[in-house]
This record gives sequence, C-alpha cells and structure tokens, in this order.
Amino acid sequence: MGIVKKSPWLLHYDGSSCNGCDIEVLACLTPVYDAERFGIVNTGDPMQADIFLITGGINQANQAVVKQLYDQMPKPKVVVAVGVCACTGGIFKDCYNIIGGADTTIPVDIYVPGCAARPQAIIDGIVKAVALFQERTDEHNAEKKANKRAAKGKENNDGN
Ligand code: SF4
Repeated sequence: MGIVKKSPWLLHYDGSSCNGCDIEVLACLTPVYDAERFGIVNTGDPMQADIFLITGGINQANQAVVKQLYDQMPKPKVVVAVGVCACTGGIFKDCYNIIGGADTTIPVDIYVPGCAARPQAIIDGIVKAVALFQERTDEHNAEKKANKRAAKGKENNDGN
C-alpha cells in the first residue's frame, strides 16, 4: 500500500446473505482485527462513503437499493464484494429470487472469496481498496486540474 493522503470512508451493506460474512466484517471493525489502522472509517452515509463493501447476493428486493447506494456515493469510489454470495450469488445462486453477485448490478473492483470470508481476506480486500481509491483520487484530481487549466487557457484566448 502506497501513501494514503485521505482516510476513505467505508459503507457496509448486507444483501441477501446468511449474515456469516457480516459477522466477519464486524469483527474486522473491532479492536481484534482493527481494519481502521489502515486508514478507513466506517460510515452509514453513502453520500460520505468512498468504499462500498457489500456482503450477500443481489435479489429482486434489494437490487434497486444497492444501485441507489452506489449512485449516491461521490466519485471516485471503489466496490468490494465480500464472500461468495456477493461474488457470484454463492449457495443461494439458484434460488428463485436471486439475481446473482453484486456485479450484476454495480461494477465490482475487488472480489474477496470465502464462505464465510475470513477476516484476513476481508482486510486484504480493504487494503487493496484503499490503494485503488488513492490511485483513482490522484487521477480524478489530475483530470480536474487539467480541465481547469484548459478552461483558463480558453478564457485567455477568448480575451485576446
Ligand atoms: S458467503 Fe457464506 S457465510 Fe457469507 S453470506 Fe454467503 S453463505 Fe453466508
């Protein structure tokens, strides 16, 4: 993991699951595994969130919710699917109401396998997400700067 200039805020959402992965995610946020030592902060507000950590699969009832949460998050953002249910639908894949993994509805950047996903694997996914978020933030800021410079150049040309 490179230099992190900002502590990304993390939003945790449980889709259609047995809650096994959620218990492991919560363990990661306690002092035992202490995921916050890698710079993340847990939040319940999608509008403040940078990393979307989803457990469980997508079903017909939660699909719109997952999409809305993702859309409410500001850019840049990173999505982590935790556990096989979030990765592919897992053991619930063939159930009548299951659509599949999180990537049936939103773009997923990092897949954390396991049933349940182990805390070490979840932390690994979070560390990767923090690094990817930093990379995207740098690109986003460089793009903003270039657009500003281009707009200023256009202003100067129009003034001549
Ligand atoms: S991956 Fe396993 S433990 Fe995690 S939510 Fe699905 S069934 Fe439960």
